[in-house]
Amino acid sequence: MKYDIIVIGSGPGGYISAIRASQLGKKVAIIEKYATLGGTCLNVGCIPSKALLDSSHHYYDAVNHFESHGISVEKPTFDFTKMVERKATVVEQTTGGIKYLMDKNNIDVFEGLGSFVDATHVKITKNDGSEETIEGTNIIIATGSKPSTLPFISLDKERIITSTEALKLKEVPKHLIVIGGGVIGLELGSVYKRLGADVTVVEYAPKITPTMDADVSKELQKVLKKQGMKIATSHGVSAVERNGDEVIVKATDKKGREVEFKGDYCLVAVGRRPYTEGLGLENAGVQLNDRNQVEVNEHLQTNVSNIYAIGDVVKGAMLAHKAEEEGVVVAEYLAGQKPHIEYNLIPGVVYTWPEVAAVGKTEDELKNAGVAYKAGKFSMRALGRSRASGDIDGFVKVLADKTTDEVLGVHIVGARAADLIMEAAVAMEYRASAEDLARICHGHPTYSEAVKEAAKAAWDGKPLNA
Ligand code: FAD
Ligand code: NAD
Repeated sequence: MKYDIIVIGSGPGGYISAIRASQLGKKVAIIEKYATLGGTCLNVGCIPSKALLDSSHHYYDAVNHFESHGISVEKPTFDFTKMVERKATVVEQTTGGIKYLMDKNNIDVFEGLGSFVDATHVKITKNDGSEETIEGTNIIIATGSKPSTLPFISLDKERIITSTEALKLKEVPKHLIVIGGGVIGLELGSVYKRLGADVTVVEYAPKITPTMDADVSKELQKVLKKQGMKIATSHGVSAVERNGDEVIVKATDKKGREVEFKGDYCLVAVGRRPYTEGLGLENAGVQLNDRNQVEVNEHLQTNVSNIYAIGDVVKGAMLAHKAEEEGVVVAEYLAGQKPHIEYNLIPGVVYTWPEVAAVGKTEDELKNAGVAYKAGKFSMRALGRSRASGDIDGFVKVLADKTTDEVLGVHIVGARAADLIMEAAVAMEYRASAEDLARICHGHPTYSEAVKEAAKAAWDGKPLNA
């Protein structure tokens, strides 16, 4: 069978690329080794984690916030099995939706492990061992990533676990030790903290979410600590041992002292690694870079001219929406268009509560690049909307060029920050100034008024409600 485009991997990069290519008139096949489509994001990533975050958030609100709104319920309880089952149903519906989209767009779906025979042929090895080879003029590698670990950790996937197992535990841990204060650690740590577990996050860097704006990390750490999460920054983990049902995490603190954390589960969340095992890249001559990512140029083309790669398996942020954009770009490029991605404007979100979201440059990045900038900050607690809901933690910070007033970065900690950030992304896509943002009429009362106020603070230093 011959296709214009073969996509290997059905995560958000792969399936979106397949749809866009089909929309542009290409004959497309997609290969997925698992029985369900959607990749990490839909099966063991974005969607299941958000389902558990939402369920645990409802419970936490019922326990901690209902009373202040004048609502009394008998002591709220939860059925963890039901929560996990609901999450599974959400995943099932969502992955089923991708199957529907493949059919709708006349995309042939092959289930099995895809591996290169040469630069134009891919062999599919099915679960029953049978094989089939298909031919493609162009091939897109969208094989994503897998959790990484530390060399001295032996993941038993029972008590020393990755995010995949943390999304389907049979019980709420008594004490969950999380190695890594990044996005996964804080999101899944929040889930179990809200459900009553003790949670200790052990982070190597001096701050959690180390790549985010320093003010954001500080505020997030403050609110998570207020929620009862224990956070040990500047702690390098040196060993993880299991003793029956107990897990012992040994680390060295910044003064060089040995410390021990004892819990019943340990979630290892120290990043993810590109996944190329079994792909047979050597048969096609595709090169990796020194970080084991598939090496690509600005068109996401590998060193083999008809083979492209997108998403977590290539350089850049490991985010579903980044993978999707790259999928669209490659499909459009192969259809003769001239697409473009503005990598600086890929938003990043952490779904803790309050949420955290950012787009553009951090203050440290601007300082390091020697850019003269001004900052405007507005606290969420000064908003009528925040007082009405009770979500008063957080702030919006707008960074703008000191001379031109162009918005260079927006950083938000606060209720619904994940959605709020898109106003900033749109503004920055059109190279808006802080004054532009400040002069746009924002609905009242909304959380988005904090964006307007922070922009005004950056522009003329005079927010109206502070
Ligand atoms: P993947 O989604 O990893 O898909 C790759 C697919 O390729 C997989 O299905 C795999 O089975 C298949 N495959 C691999 N090799 C082969 C082969 N040889 N043959 C056939 N098939 C193969 N990102 C966000 O933007 N927002 C979030 O809220 C978010 N939450 C997350 C929560 C968790 C717990 C995790 C783990 C990740 C989260 N991410 C989130 C990251 C997001 O899931 C990834 O960035 C995204 O899935 C990458 O998409 P992809 O298409 O590159 O690869
Ligand atoms: P991450 O890179 O976000 O965080 C890993 C953390 O582990 C970092 O803070 C790092 O300093 C720390 N770390 C590394 N080595 C350590 C050590 N020896 N001891 C202690 N800490 C150590 O990675 P992640 O949280 O595993 O997430 C993986 C990927 O999945 C990320 O790239 C992220 O973008 C993506 N993801 C995104 C979302 C989202 O968009 N909401 C949610 C989950 C995951």
